[in-house]
Amino acid sequence: MLRFLILVVLFWTSLFSSEIERYRWINGETYLVFLEKNNLPTKELYYNLDRDDQRLTEELLTGVHYQVSKNSKGQIEQVLLPLNDELQIHIYKENEKYKFEAIPIITTTQTETFSVVITSSPLYNIQKETGSKKLAHIFHSSFKNSLNFKTGIKPGDTLVMIYEQKYRLGKTFSMPVLKAAMVELSGKKHYLYLNNDEKYYDEKGSQAEEFLLGRPVSGARLSSTFTKRRFHPVLKKWKAHLGVDYAARPGTPVMAAGDGFINYAANAGSYGNLIRISHADGFETRYAHLKSFKSGVKKGRNVKKGQVIAYVGNTGRSTGPHLHFELRKKGVAINPLTVVQVATVNLSGKEKAAFDSLRKEYNDSIDAHLNNKPEYVKARKTRPKCYFFNEPEPQNLEETEADG
Ligand SMILES: [Zn+2]
Repeated sequence: MLRFLILVVLFWTSLFSSEIERYRWINGETYLVFLEKNNLPTKELYYNLDRDDQRLTEELLTGVHYQVSKNSKGQIEQVLLPLNDELQIHIYKENEKYKFEAIPIITTTQTETFSVVITSSPLYNIQKETGSKKLAHIFHSSFKNSLNFKTGIKPGDTLVMIYEQKYRLGKTFSMPVLKAAMVELSGKKHYLYLNNDEKYYDEKGSQAEEFLLGRPVSGARLSSTFTKRRFHPVLKKWKAHLGVDYAARPGTPVMAAGDGFINYAANAGSYGNLIRISHADGFETRYAHLKSFKSGVKKGRNVKKGQVIAYVGNTGRSTGPHLHFELRKKGVAINPLTVVQVATVNLSGKEKAAFDSLRKEYNDSIDAHLNNKPEYVKARKTRPKCYFFNEPEPQNLEETEADG
């Protein structure tokens, strides 16, 4: 803890005595190229790192915004490279030497709401109103399996969207999370709510669409869960585990989690024997440390949900026979356990009662917004917070973009 506090103070001081520049991670750039381009030492900042830290550097995603601070001579003092919405790489100087560490990202979260009159489609009208493709897409994809927007919209139909938005350094950060939504089709209201179990339900408490298997190997034990950041108590370092592990006997069949096509089936270094399957809507599943592939399974082949594709093994960087299973959407790792559960659930009993009271709260909020018709606030003022401090920055408030 003391080390963190010292770091906080050092970072805080140096942050405001030097220039901070903000960049976008460009398509196809690798971490090593980034180091070389900026004259940063590849030995200290990559080759000397352990395998876990090296693997973290492969998580950098196109389009992410990162910060570089330089001293008055233009030399890099610190770099912050977000890996997901919770963990970032921190490159910094200590005794004239560059150091690497993975540290948590500090964000603030705001719940935001707006309503829009639909003239064309929710997708079009949300984007026109907010300027945000992300918000439009999230709304559209949440309802699209249950509602037909093409034929159902009539003049006067309205929608309300309640969502959480994270802010980092005063700017919107990461994907917004839809909390509740209402959309009218020919005057009939349809609702969707994010329940406390992290799944979406309609107004009757039936779980909304899911199309992937939650558990692609049967008879296995969940041995490690998904985490975007975790402090390793022994190594005293921040790490990530961007999938779930299922311990199972070697040779246990592994199934495709959903319909799709195999885009990779070969050895992949620390992943060992790896299969990657592309699914609809930009989803991809990964199956690692496999003993072998089922015959006929290779790149380019189509697979069906539940089809056996491979066998559990211990290849690559693995400490025992298990399946390492990942789910990604457009490259971003998401927790398979919260998103991919098999759709069976109709809430009942205590769970239904808890859901109903949550639903009532959201409905009150939606009704209030329907009556007041608040517009989307384009430039929201937030106080930037610093990485370790929960203190507002003493300088001017910063304008934020509608879509970061
Ligand atoms: Zn794993």
